Amino acid sequence: MKKYSVFSLARNALDYHENWTEAWRSPEPKPEYDVIIVGGGGHGLATAYYLAKEHGITNVAVIEKGWLGGGNVARNTTIVRSNYQLEGNAFFYEKGMDLWRDLSQDLNYNVMFSPRGVINLAHNDAQVDAFQRRGNTMRLNGIDAEWMTVDQIKKKAPLLNTENMRYPVYGGLCQPKGGTARHDAVAWGYARAADDRGVDMIQNCEVTGMRIENGKILGVETTKGFIGAKKVGVAVAGHSSQVFQMAGMRLPIETHLLQAMVSEPVKPALDTVITSGAAHCYISQSDKGELVFGGDIDFYNSYAQRGNYPIIEHVVTAMCELFPAFSRLRLMRTWGGVMDMSMDGTPIIDKTPIDSLYINAGWCYGGFKATPASGWCFAHTIAQDQPHDLSSEMRLNRFETGHTLDEKGVGSTPNMH
Ligand SMILES: Cc1cc2nc3c(=O)[nH]c(=O)nc-3n(C[C@H](O)[C@H](O)[C@H](O)COP(=O)(O)OP(=O)(O)OC[C@H]3O[C@@H](n4cnc5c(N)ncnc54)[C@H](O)[C@@H]3O)c2cc1C
Repeated sequence: MKKYSVFSLARNALDYHENWTEAWRSPEPKPEYDVIIVGGGGHGLATAYYLAKEHGITNVAVIEKGWLGGGNVARNTTIVRSNYQLEGNAFFYEKGMDLWRDLSQDLNYNVMFSPRGVINLAHNDAQVDAFQRRGNTMRLNGIDAEWMTVDQIKKKAPLLNTENMRYPVYGGLCQPKGGTARHDAVAWGYARAADDRGVDMIQNCEVTGMRIENGKILGVETTKGFIGAKKVGVAVAGHSSQVFQMAGMRLPIETHLLQAMVSEPVKPALDTVITSGAAHCYISQSDKGELVFGGDIDFYNSYAQRGNYPIIEHVVTAMCELFPAFSRLRLMRTWGGVMDMSMDGTPIIDKTPIDSLYINAGWCYGGFKATPASGWCFAHTIAQDQPHDLSSEMRLNRFETGHTLDEKGVGSTPNMH
């Protein structure tokens, strides 16, 4: 692989950038692999990369039904954070933050990680109590957290409306080292670095069935024929229920739609991430200048990668209430993704009852930030045939034993997580 650097940029400028090599190969599938990863989103690609890098397993294929990075990994609002209270989540997501910090150097690909701070606005006394308790727990766990007064928030985000709104702002919990990253660059960076270590990227190849004999998986049926594998890891996000149905498994997951949108680009106006659970809106500004924002899911089950107008109207209304000045901007694009909502809001990274078949699913609203930690732990689970310590509370059998990890405390209501 040619290293990306200022020198390679200058060298390629000499021939008008016409001779860059492809970022990854497009090979035909081999008859058999040591490991097949189903799903070329962020989690599948990160898993393939860490299998090769951390475990020396390079005879690996990533099988993607569309194109790499065509799913949620490149449809999200790019927020990266680890502001969790429960230990089963906190240390996992904080491992992710450690990986995010060095990811561009590790992958030799600029993922544009921007630790610009993430502020959760509190709009009533109960939220102030809950957020401060979470902030204190984060600090006890060694995770950065700061309580911000309204004046401090106003200083950080001068255009934010804190008083003349239905739910005035009482303060906010900030994770200063949280922020954003460039979503599709994350997929491309992992794909390129995994390819460099020998992983095959098989695009436009849908997994249509699983060959299982005597309780063990032998490979997958695909639109390019049968491909054998000693182990199969599935990381297909919103399509988890469909794919695991091929193995005869019914998952504690519902698929819902989540939309996001961007305004036309403007000069720098917001240099942090603002989220408001009460107003149902989260917003940041991309490096291109677009305001990137989203809100709730569409509240009905669907596999369609597009949503409906009422939610767009709801999110835009909330955004305009938080930032009245932005009401003068034009909306440039909206889109949707299919979300794998688990029953307790926590993901599943685990073995399955089928020998050598592994599951990575249930990412709800927050799987992008988890991409590096998820790949790290899933690669370990596949390579060692046992869960990683950091994801040990994210096991499938917690729904059987009742040991759910319900950060929000809203119970088994997937639409609420
Ligand atoms: C609008 C929106 C906003 C979001 N905002 C945030 C945010 O700000 N922060 C955050 O942390 N998270 C956010 N998320 C969630 C996050 O994007 C997802 O949780 C995460 O990307 C899911 O993991 P993934 O990247 O592997 O998924 P995907 O990119 O969806 O990858 C799964 C892949 O599997 C492939 N696939 C499916 N079925 C098959 C099959 N049968 N055969 C082969 N391949 C198959 C799909 O084509 C897809 O490419 C958001 C999501 C959306 C939709």
